[in-house]
Amino acid sequence: MIISRQKNQDELKKALTGLARVFLVGCGACATVCKSGGEEEVFRMQEWLATGGIAVTGSVVIDEACHIMRAGRDLRQHRVAVDEADGILVLACGSGIQSIAISSAKQVVGGLDSLFLGNVRRIGEYEEKCSLCGECILNETAGICPVTTCAKGLLNGPCGGMAEGHCEIDDGVDCAWHLIYEKLKKQGRSAVFDRPVAPKNWSGKQKPGRHKVER
Ligand code: SF4
Ligand code: SF4
Repeated sequence: MIISRQKNQDELKKALTGLARVFLVGCGACATVCKSGGEEEVFRMQEWLATGGIAVTGSVVIDEACHIMRAGRDLRQHRVAVDEADGILVLACGSGIQSIAISSAKQVVGGLDSLFLGNVRRIGEYEEKCSLCGECILNETAGICPVTTCAKGLLNGPCGGMAEGHCEIDDGVDCAWHLIYEKLKKQGRSAVFDRPVAPKNWSGKQKPGRHKVER
């Protein structure tokens, strides 16, 4: 899921300059799990806006704000409240904010910063495990991603800075390549470690990314 957090209040106030009435949008997926843009946060945002004299004409928490058609449908269902607003404040990741910008001519204000694609350890604790590199090498690295979890993104490690299984960049963090080696060894696959991982073909990492499922 996409890990996001709310912008600080000063930044948000600045972004809302000139808007007396806003329509509020939250996201029922990632931003809800991150506690940055679910029902509760939309409600709290409404209260905070009131203290600053900004009226909320209406609100909706879209199932997945990144789904452009659903975002458009939900805005149409709230057309009157959206029309009454000077702008739309969106508590969703950058993808969700852009779904709303695509679906409305109104000024869109993003209330969140998007941080990374993350795994949920528990609610409130998130970890980056994959950087979406476009050519996954987990089959050679015992299911541990060095592109993301090695501080240097090394494809062949460990580097000379590894000490007793810890990373030289942060002593409190396990060296990704130490973990890979230990896991391959337990699986009886340490021979995989003997051959170097080939340089990454970054052409799989498109910008902007596009993917269409062939039917
Ligand atoms: S190798 Fe690439 S796609 Fe696979 S987990 Fe790492 S960053 Fe993600
Ligand atoms: S010590 Fe390990 S995790 Fe840290 S930079 Fe070197 S190879 Fe990467």
